[in-house]
Amino acid sequence: MKAKILSGKEVVARLREDLASRVEELGKRGIRPLLSMVVVGDAAPAQAYIRGIEKACEAVGVTARTGYFPPAIGQEEVEEHLAALNQDPAVHGVILMQPLPPHLEEGRLAALLRPEKDVDCFTPGNAGRVMAGDSLAFPPATPQAVLEILKYYDIPLEGRQAVVIGRSMVVGKPLAMLLLKENATVTICHTRTRDLAALCRQADLVVAAAGRPGLVTGEMIKPGAGVVDVGINFVDGKMVGDVDFEGVSSVAGAVTPVPGGVGTVTSTVIVKHVVLAAERAASS
Ligand code: NAD
Repeated sequence: MKAKILSGKEVVARLREDLASRVEELGKRGIRPLLSMVVVGDAAPAQAYIRGIEKACEAVGVTARTGYFPPAIGQEEVEEHLAALNQDPAVHGVILMQPLPPHLEEGRLAALLRPEKDVDCFTPGNAGRVMAGDSLAFPPATPQAVLEILKYYDIPLEGRQAVVIGRSMVVGKPLAMLLLKENATVTICHTRTRDLAALCRQADLVVAAAGRPGLVTGEMIKPGAGVVDVGINFVDGKMVGDVDFEGVSSVAGAVTPVPGGVGTVTSTVIVKHVVLAAERAASS
């Protein structure tokens, strides 16, 4: 069997089509969705993410503003800036880019941002909503990108066995909750999991988010199963995922590539959240 390749590009094209028409509708009511990104200190680690989001916003007519602040800025000043963004009705989404300089208290900043504007799941309020299965939640972009791919390609989830490898707060844990909300039976695996291969072999869907190149091999996959590769690793200067793509694609029914899979969809998910936030603000 040769697995179907689940292309992120196709998913992005469909999402953009839908978002562009929703932005047009909002425009008729005089509303232009606006995302404000806040970068403190060294912008280099987040630069590719910021640029990707700016381009994705531009593609559908959403405004993206990026504010750069010096590394020595005080806690109070950042809090004042966030409070102003909270209050500004023209701002629909806010992202405080990570990593923050160590002198800033991340927890206090996260608690301050209004969950309705928290389009990349930075606040505890929003994270709680994801755990509760609340449909008002804005999940983190990467797990939501996985869901967008699975839905676009009609990969069945209800009643299916799903294995998520990784338990971080940005990917593994929220992703497990999103799959559970779709009525999958979810197993979360991590570094202390015994016999990962045996658990994967029982699964209808395996999502790898461990950051370990070559972790998931063809022998670990049930014939016909779906495989989503969230991993981003660099081996000899080349970007690879966590999945041995060649080996797995000869057994699986469907597999996402790296690059060209999950990572391609994340910035458009942020835009989707901004548009949703603008629609909700307009109807409240
Ligand atoms: P993390 O390091 O915070 O978490 C990795 C998780 O994987 C941990 O919970 C750990 O227990 C588990 N793990 C590690 N090695 C394992 C092993 N051998 N067996 C079982 N479990 C193992 O990483 P993260 O931030 O969750 O990111 C995971 C991967 O996803 C990384 O490669 C990261 O670069 C990538 N990522 C991709 C995107 C995207 O847009 N595609 C976005 C964010 C992160």
